[in-house]
Amino acid sequence: MGAQGKNMQTLPIFFAAEMVADSGSYSPSAEKPAQVVRRFLQTGLPVRLERPEPLSVDTLSLAHERQFVTDVLEGRRGNGFGNRSAEVAASLCWTNGAMLSAASAALKSGTVACAPCSGFHHAHWDRAGGFCTFNGLMITAQALRQAGKVHRVGILDFDMHYGDGTDSILSKLGIDWVTHITAGRFYDQPDQAHEFLDRIPEWMSTLSDCDLILYQAGADPHVDDPLGGFLTTEQLFQRDRLVFQHAHRQRTPIVWNLAGGYQKTPSGGIEPVLDIHENTLRACIEAFGVGQ
Ligand SMILES: [Zn+2]
Repeated sequence: MGAQGKNMQTLPIFFAAEMVADSGSYSPSAEKPAQVVRRFLQTGLPVRLERPEPLSVDTLSLAHERQFVTDVLEGRRGNGFGNRSAEVAASLCWTNGAMLSAASAALKSGTVACAPCSGFHHAHWDRAGGFCTFNGLMITAQALRQAGKVHRVGILDFDMHYGDGTDSILSKLGIDWVTHITAGRFYDQPDQAHEFLDRIPEWMSTLSDCDLILYQAGADPHVDDPLGGFLTTEQLFQRDRLVFQHAHRQRTPIVWNLAGGYQKTPSGGIEPVLDIHENTLRACIEAFGVGQ
């Protein structure tokens, strides 16, 4: 029995084929949801797929300039991958929708849910950047707050890079009810790995007054990542374990997504990135005692 009495039987993963697009980009993130979900199902771990709701222009505009949203969706402006692909634009309503749907499920169960998507934290109020178009973290926080489902939200961003888009939206909208922790602003060297891991309990206690934590379990802090580089595979696993163990202990609902990860095999496959995301899944299932 877990702290909440009864453990969940299967971890809900919010996925739809519409989340996937060919971005023609260096970043694999637009194609990643399907590959991650395939890998998760292969593990035989207790997971179940749930269908997310795509977001409307109104909901996307809770964290963005409306003109920017419609310009991207209608192909008048580039997305975060630097193109005007209609396929990518269509997928954005679904990837951002997966984050909100999963967050709603985590709030409802009081535990955890997964949204296997990426491409949020460099998206500013009125512009895309760094493989990010719309900021699914801020959209989710805003939508839940406006629906009266949360008072405070924590954004725990453990991608390798600074969540500058999130910070800019927070300041643009004058939001003071979000606690934003973005490790990429302060940590990037292998000799900081222990300091980073040691700080996680303190960060988690900072988030204990939040009704929900949005956790970006980025794969790009891996030492071998071409855009990253300060944590080993084992240290990334420890990171995820600490986050999920504390969330479970504090009884703070948590929703996690994938964020960055750019390692490739010589033949162009993203198995090294899938391995890291699989470890996040394992840490989550273990900490929450899913299926036990
Ligand atoms: Zn990143």
